[in-house]
Amino acid sequence: MDNYIEAVKNKLKEEGFKLTPQRRSIVDIMLKSKGQHLNSEEIYDLVKKQCPEIGLATVYRTLQLLDDIGAVSKLNLDDGCCRYELNINDESHNHHHLICKKCNKIMEVEEDLLETLEEEIEKNYGFKIFDHDVKFFGLCDDCK
Ligand SMILES: [Zn+2]
Ligand SMILES: [Zn+2]
Ligand SMILES: [Zn+2]
Repeated sequence: MDNYIEAVKNKLKEEGFKLTPQRRSIVDIMLKSKGQHLNSEEIYDLVKKQCPEIGLATVYRTLQLLDDIGAVSKLNLDDGCCRYELNINDESHNHHHLICKKCNKIMEVEEDLLETLEEEIEKNYGFKIFDHDVKFFGLCDDCK
């Protein structure tokens, strides 16, 4: 995953920013917690172990910056907080999430399945679609 850190470093540089040790720790945490969809506070708690002097505001700002340069994606899963996940593949389109209403587990859907729906909408409404953002709420296999 050194490639990812290199890529983040280069993107920051292009925008006139540096990969400071604090920013680097946040990137490290994002890598280590891949697939966990942590929220800002959870990321802060983990980063604090590496950088005890870091403030929550710095973590917020850094996550926003990483989102701006496309290194992470901000997720709004309607659970009252901002979650982030790695954006490794440089894909403009994020995968979809399944959210369990009972245990709050977040799962990822590998297939997209919505291309046909987009085509139908474009045809029926004469609307040019750039992207979509879909969340599925329900009960996971353990909570059913
Ligand atoms: Zn569940
Ligand atoms: Zn995800
Ligand atoms: Zn999709």
